[in-house]
Amino acid sequence: MSEHVHTQKCSAMLGDLSEYIDGSLQAEICEQIEEHMKTCDNCRVVVDTLRKTVELYEHCSDNVEIPGEVKERLFAKLELNDYLSTAKTSK
Ligand SMILES: [Zn+2]
Repeated sequence: MSEHVHTQKCSAMLGDLSEYIDGSLQAEICEQIEEHMKTCDNCRVVVDTLRKTVELYEHCSDNVEIPGEVKERLFAKLELNDYLSTAKTSK
């Protein structure tokens, strides 16, 4: 029995997440993210939540692009920073 271990792949993936949500990420990297999400529930939940939040936001604000600042706040709200630092910390 072992807990899900955040791998370097997780933190790398989540680092690209805002671009992934933007759709500005290279197709190759998108594929890697999607591939990773198939095997990693935690990352899938994070991406799903973030994507829904972003979609909702864009929907409500007339398809205006989300400023980086707002995205940072979304990330913070989702405690993604915590998630990322957890991913980096290995014991
Ligand atoms: Zn992961």
